[in-house]
Amino acid sequence: APLSLVVQRAMPATTRLATPRMAEFVETDAAVLDRYMNLPHPGQVQAEYLWIDAKGEVRSKCRTIDAKKASLDQLPSWNYDGSSCDQAPGEDSEVIIKPRAVYKDPFRPGDNILVLTDTYTPAGEPLPTNTRTAATERFAGREDEVPWFGIEQEYTLFNLDKVTPLGWPQGGFPGAQGPYYCGAGADRSFGRSISEAHYKACLYAGIAISGTNAEVMPGQWEYQVGPCVGIAAADELMVSRYILQRVCEDFGVYCTFDPKPIDGDWNGAGCHTNFSTEKMRKAGGRAAIDTAPPPAGARAKRPRAIRQLGARHSAHIAAYGEGNERRLTGKHETADMNTFSYGVANRGCSIRIPRSVEADGCGYLEARHRRRDARDRRPSSNMDPYVVTSMIFETIADGNEE
Ligand code: ADP
Ligand code: MN
Ligand code: MN
Ligand code: MN
Ligand code: MN
Repeated sequence: APLSLVVQRAMPATTRLATPRMAEFVETDAAVLDRYMNLPHPGQVQAEYLWIDAKGEVRSKCRTIDAKKASLDQLPSWNYDGSSCDQAPGEDSEVIIKPRAVYKDPFRPGDNILVLTDTYTPAGEPLPTNTRTAATERFAGREDEVPWFGIEQEYTLFNLDKVTPLGWPQGGFPGAQGPYYCGAGADRSFGRSISEAHYKACLYAGIAISGTNAEVMPGQWEYQVGPCVGIAAADELMVSRYILQRVCEDFGVYCTFDPKPIDGDWNGAGCHTNFSTEKMRKAGGRAAIDTAPPPAGARAKRPRAIRQLGARHSAHIAAYGEGNERRLTGKHETADMNTFSYGVANRGCSIRIPRSVEADGCGYLEARHRRRDARDRRPSSNMDPYVVTSMIFETIADGNEE
């Protein structure tokens, strides 16, 4: 009897300790892990192979590669279980992945690498979700245009409940938008450490990340990738999204690229795509950008990027990302999505021409993808960059050939 009494008294004490012990374990785990992560393994490289799944999200798995064979031209193709990614039937489940770009792995010190791949059937056909192949075909043969892209990726951070954005009171709302955009202070900046860690990790990896800023909606952030030439823009954007998810995993925070994460008077998340060709960047390039008539005596046939974009507006809108449809049901002037517009320094237009283009007479344009109001209601942050960049390029390059 005395023995069982002791046990009974000990049990509740153990139960009460369970939660703090678990928290302790997780912290210790992270600190101790560093020791192992820093162990050298000369001659061998860990290669994390990345691919894009049926939802446009990046998945990955790792293999050991002889250090002498860790370059893009020598890395082997590989495969994954497509039936687990909704990309292949169970009875023929292998998806073949081919290395397309290599970056330094910011999560594994040393010579370890991230390997971006694209996806094929065993017969060698690109998967329907392999939009990279179609994009490279659109860019091919027009290298003299030297297309540059700078993509502004917005994203929204949530607690792991996926309901409460970071910094928001549970079940309630923070103060109205206004102080949060580029704001500093514990009452308005939520998740800066994630933005900072991601910025450094991208720089380390060799991604052309060009900046970052806090967004209008609290808990929402932006970073920019570019300018990158051609297909590299979409490649680097996809890898930057993967790095962001890995950083958020470390911080125990949920990140979404949903274009309208919170209904109501809260900004959506966009992905402005800044674009230029060699012609636009050269002196006098303004004529290649807008619809201004050629000066007297000049050749009548001029490339007119904006006219071309306007002519194909609805085709572009249809391809510019899931969430377009969801926003159409909203109350924020979604009808205007069917209108094409452009203007200098005007953020309420489909296409914005930066003020510097007006001043310098050359430069680039910003495809905002759809008309939004001045409150920054912008396009899909979950857009497929292979589709978007190659489509903008094709539209403008076709115009150049007319
Ligand atoms: P915004 O003023 O719309 O917020 P950002 O500064 O966020 O613009 O992003 C502009 C992006 O455009 C950056 O990634 C930048 O590197 C890129 N960019 C700059 N010049 C060019 C150019 N000539 N062609 C394409 N992209 C460019
Ligand atoms: Mn296995
Ligand atoms: Mn921006
Ligand atoms: Mn922004
Ligand atoms: Mn912008």
